[in-house]
Order: sequence, then structure tokens, then C-alpha cells
Amino acid sequence: MVELKTDAELAVMRSAGRVVGAALAAVRKEAAIGVSLLELNEVAVGVLADNGAGSSFRGYRPHFAPTPFPGVICASVNDVIVHGIPSAYRLRDGDLVSIDFGASVGGFHGDAAISFTVGTPRPADLTLIADTQAALDAGIAAAVVGGRLGDVSAAVGRIGRAAGYGIPPNFGGHGVGRAMHEDPSVPNEGVPGRGLKLRPGLVIAIEPMFIAGGRDPFVTDPDGWSLRTSDASRAAHIEHTIAVTESGPVILTAP
Ligand code: MG
Repeated sequence: MVELKTDAELAVMRSAGRVVGAALAAVRKEAAIGVSLLELNEVAVGVLADNGAGSSFRGYRPHFAPTPFPGVICASVNDVIVHGIPSAYRLRDGDLVSIDFGASVGGFHGDAAISFTVGTPRPADLTLIADTQAALDAGIAAAVVGGRLGDVSAAVGRIGRAAGYGIPPNFGGHGVGRAMHEDPSVPNEGVPGRGLKLRPGLVIAIEPMFIAGGRDPFVTDPDGWSLRTSDASRAAHIEHTIAVTESGPVILTAP
């Protein structure tokens, strides 16, 4: 069931989203050659504590997962698309890193992700990240009252396909509210003019994830969490939680 949020609820969700934005900014600032994914996780733990916020991720166990998620961030490096578990791995020159993070404040969640490079970037990675950001921007721009959910999905998918990227099936955006994952699901491909009508108070996470090599299928690591590209090519993942309002889409997870 899709639950529309009141203005008062949106204000609380903006508080949660602000913590998400701040944590991602702090993690990005700390990320450098030689820094471990566990150390980045601790940076985010600190931001949660400083803000009296809860982690949306730690202990989370969706239907596909064999174990509760151990970290407060997902840290996905190079050919890991999403859901990477923060490990002792230390970042290396040229790594492409995606950090996904969720926080709860006052009973509501915020969910966002960033992709960036460490050290000297590969030009193709910068293009992949820019295209993923452009897809997110296009998806957000389509999230207007009177539109349909398919407009958002189509806007995201169009940019990924035009660039020749793979789009992993069955993973994408979602409603956000008192649960991190709510209805509706927001696929990264769709048909304009189809699907749920967009109404004021609808809150969704839009999260393009693109695979540079162009193949859609992914493989799941033995840990049951990390989704990896099937051809060892790199992937990017960028996400915001946004609200559909009468005055246009509002990004709730901006810092
Ligand atoms: Mg999400």
C-alpha cells in the first residue's frame, strides 16, 4: 500500500534526510587511498550518534539476505554494484566507490547513495558516474504531480540504455517512510505514462545503478549480500529520497 505523507511528516523526513546527506558527505571526505571500508563505516556511525539518529541498515534483513546486514553503510567497490559489506579492504588508487546509507529520525527513514573515485580516476569511471547522476537528476525531474511512476523509471532507464550500460534487474528505487522499503517499487526502467499516479506526499527513493560493461545480469557473492557485475566491469549507484509536492520534487536527503 502506498502511504502519502503529510507536510508534518515530510518535515520529519527532511530531518532524517539531512542526517543522511551529512553522513555521506563525511564519508566522502574521509575516503582516500589506504582508508578501510570499516573506517568509513565508523565515520557514519559517528554522524548517527552525533544526531541521535538510528541506522536503517544495521540489522536489516530483506527476503534475499541470509544474514542481517552488519554495517550502517553499504560500501561497494569497483565491480560491486550495491550492498557491499564494509570490510577491512583498504581503498586503492583509482577505485570506484559507491556508499549507500540510511538513517531514521522520529520514526521516519531517509536513504541515499553516492559514487566517487579515489586517487587518480579512470576517465571511463568519471563518465559512468556522471551518467548515473544525470539519470538520477532526470528521474527526479520527472517526479511531478500529475505524472506517473513510469515517467520516473523511463527517465532513469533511457539515460542508462543510451550510454550502453547494463541495468541489474529486480533492484531499484522504492517508497520510503516509516519503513526504509515501502511501496511503490521504482524500477530503473519503465514506460512513460504508465503506473502509479504521482500525488503530493508521495516519497520515493530513486536510485539508478548502471553497469559499465553493458550486461544486465549480476552475480551474488557468497556473503549473500554483495551484488557484483558478471563481467568484472565497474558499476555506479547514486540515490536520493525525494518527495513529490505541489511545488515540484523536493530532495529530502540533501545535506
Ligand atoms: Mg534505497
